[in-house]
Amino acid sequence: MIENKTVLVVVAHPDDETACGGTIAKLSKANNQVIQVVATNGDKGTHDPNVTPSEITNTRKKEMADTAEILGISRVIWLGFEDGTLEQNVTSVKEKVFKVIREVKPDIVISFDPWKRWDPHSDHRTIGFVSVEAAYLADGVWYYPEHKTEGLEPHDVPETYLFHTDEPNYAIDVKETFHVKKEAADAHKSQSLSFATFGEKYLERLKQMVEKEEDIYKEKFRKLNQSDLNL
Ligand SMILES: [Zn+2]
Repeated sequence: MIENKTVLVVVAHPDDETACGGTIAKLSKANNQVIQVVATNGDKGTHDPNVTPSEITNTRKKEMADTAEILGISRVIWLGFEDGTLEQNVTSVKEKVFKVIREVKPDIVISFDPWKRWDPHSDHRTIGFVSVEAAYLADGVWYYPEHKTEGLEPHDVPETYLFHTDEPNYAIDVKETFHVKKEAADAHKSQSLSFATFGEKYLERLKQMVEKEEDIYKEKFRKLNQSDLNL
C-alpha cells in the first residue's frame, strides 16, 4: 500500500464512498491524505414528503462529516449541484473537477466506473466520466486556461482507480478495516430506510452480489494506468 500520497475520491452523493470505504480507511491509516469531492448535496435523498430538500441537505452534510472523521478523510469538498442534475450540468461539473484536481494535486483519483452496466443513476455515470476525463486531461494547458489567473497550474494525475466496476483488474483486501467501513456507512443515518442502519442495508446488498461470503472483504477496482502507485 502507498504511503504519504494524496488521494482524491470523487463521488456523486454523500454515502457513495461506502463502496471503497475499507480502502479509504487503509489509505488514511498509511498516512495518505484522502480528500473527498461530493458533487451533489444529496438533497433528494429522502422518501419523506415532510422533509424538505434543504433539511435533508443539512442532515446529509452532517452525516458526511461524521463519516469522513471515521474514515480519516481530511477534507470534504462539496460542488453544490442538486441531486440528479449532474448530466444536465456536465459542462460546469467538468470545470469544477478540473479545478479541484489542480488545487489538490492528487497522485491518485478514485471514482465511479462510468461504463458499469445497469446502474440507473445518471449522477454516477456522469461523475465517473468527468473524473476519468479530468484525471487524464488536467495537465493540459489549454483546458480551462483561466484557472491560471487563480494561481492553479495544470496537474498530471499518474493513476486512476474506478470502483463500482464490471471489469475489475485490481482488488484490495479490506478485512482489517471492514469494521471502520461499516461504522462509517452507519453514520449515514438518514439513508437506512427499512434497515437498522445504512451499513446493514449496504451489507445486505453486498452479500447478494458476491459469490462467496469472504468476498465481502474485497473491494474491486479498475486500475486505468500502469503506474506503481498500488493501493
Ligand atoms: Zn449515489
